[in-house]
Amino acid sequence: MAFDQKLVAAITEIVGVNGVITNVSDMAPYLHEERGLAESSADLVARPANTAEVAAVVRACAETKTPMVPVGGSTGLTGGTLASGGVLVATDRLNKIIEVDALNSTMTVETGCILADLQTAAADQDCLFPLSLGAEGSCRIGGNLSTNAGGIGVLRYGNTRDLVLGLEVVLPSGEIWDGLNALRKDNTGYDLKQLFIGAEGTLGIITKAVLKLFPAPKTTMTVLAALPELTAILNLFEATRQLCGDRLTAFELISRIAIDLGVAHIPGVIDPFENAHPCYALVELTSPRANDELRTEIETVLEKAFEDGIVTDAVFAESDAQRQELWKIREEIPAAQTREGASIKHDISVPVSQTVAFITEASKQITQALPGIRPCPFGHIGDGNIHFNLTQPAEMTSEDFMAQAEALTRIVYDLVVEMKGSISAEHGIGAFKRKELAHYASATKIDLMRSIKQALDPDNIMNPGKIV
Ligand SMILES: Cc1cc2nc3c(=O)[nH]c(=O)nc-3n(C[C@H](O)[C@H](O)[C@H](O)COP(=O)(O)OP(=O)(O)OC[C@H]3O[C@@H](n4cnc5c(N)ncnc54)[C@H](O)[C@@H]3O)c2cc1C
Repeated sequence: MAFDQKLVAAITEIVGVNGVITNVSDMAPYLHEERGLAESSADLVARPANTAEVAAVVRACAETKTPMVPVGGSTGLTGGTLASGGVLVATDRLNKIIEVDALNSTMTVETGCILADLQTAAADQDCLFPLSLGAEGSCRIGGNLSTNAGGIGVLRYGNTRDLVLGLEVVLPSGEIWDGLNALRKDNTGYDLKQLFIGAEGTLGIITKAVLKLFPAPKTTMTVLAALPELTAILNLFEATRQLCGDRLTAFELISRIAIDLGVAHIPGVIDPFENAHPCYALVELTSPRANDELRTEIETVLEKAFEDGIVTDAVFAESDAQRQELWKIREEIPAAQTREGASIKHDISVPVSQTVAFITEASKQITQALPGIRPCPFGHIGDGNIHFNLTQPAEMTSEDFMAQAEALTRIVYDLVVEMKGSISAEHGIGAFKRKELAHYASATKIDLMRSIKQALDPDNIMNPGKIV
């Protein structure tokens, strides 16, 4: 059916000819799906340049009951920006940093700003915006808010949800909700902003946000510790946290296979140790004090850890370049896995105390189910979030391996749920995990979510087909 030309004219009137794309090849960047798992299509991409334009576009779509999909940097990993016709509302022109208030430790921004630009703007005022993840050069803060992104600083600073004081949102009717306050205390009823954070664009389009800032780190110490066995990692984590307190900002698991795959496939990834070890912890301490004794602190932890047999070797980053090299090993794991062949990914969380038990048992069960499969667990073990990714057996075809994806995922998620964990720790549900959410979430939870969706978006036009 031909797309409503009156709606095209109305949206063009609102955002101007430069704010509208109807040509399919020009739409390509907005139809990008990061994992290449599904195709997206739209009749029109609207690129509003301010909140009033977003509201007017949404109102025009609401009047004609036309489906809309908000699009940020399209780096989401669960198909949250997939569309099948209708209007994509791209936020790339909502890119102003409105204010950095260093005294209030806040930053007010439009939600199309690229995450890395916000980090830089904060640093320019000697502050830190601590959200940090591999896609920070291209993801946008509206996408981070809408997926409640996690990343490497959750241990110290929390998820995106913990970094927000206020929001402005265009509701599916086109009405604007102004909750853009910069208050640390506000107990005036339901905390509505929390509804929109992590809603993956299903309840409205977030147009502005007030974000929390922190003192900029002046000293950073990064260490890669080699461990004799996986179980040692929680002992090392506990010892580091006890001594270093909240100076511990990142604590990441890197498994041996992850180093092997990185060295094999990614230029610039090197194994910094002479010998191979079963697994590694990438540990980072930061302090807002210049010349803080972070090195002495971590050396104290490691000396005791050597004595106790929970660490066998360690490499200290002696410069920023060396720090980047160590982080490169961690950040390039997904790319290295992709180059090795097919992989099945699980972004799960369990209580931190259960992480080792989970990895051990899940690895055992999936190896029983498919001998030769190569589990590649890595990630934010310090906050309980493991990327439990599975690389195909070396001698199997990718097609045969992927044919087993559903059965293997069932094994992994059943164990996660048994251990009171989550089947989506930081990537959201989007389009790809809907079936899994329906399978594992309680009827009460699904009913509550449907009631909220129905109340805000009765015609189901705001990012339909996602979450519930
Ligand atoms: C290399 C790489 C590393 C990554 N590392 C991490 C990581 O460590 N931790 C982590 O949590 N994620 C990670 N991700 C996933 C991804 O980067 C995050 O989910 C990110 O927050 C998505 O931002 P985006 O702007 O690309 O959003 P998009 O992909 O454009 O959108 C994501 C969802 O948000 C909705 N949305 C976007 N903007 C708005 C808005 N303004 N209002 C309402 N809804 C909106 C979309 O409709 C969609 O449902 C990684 C991805 C890659 C490619």
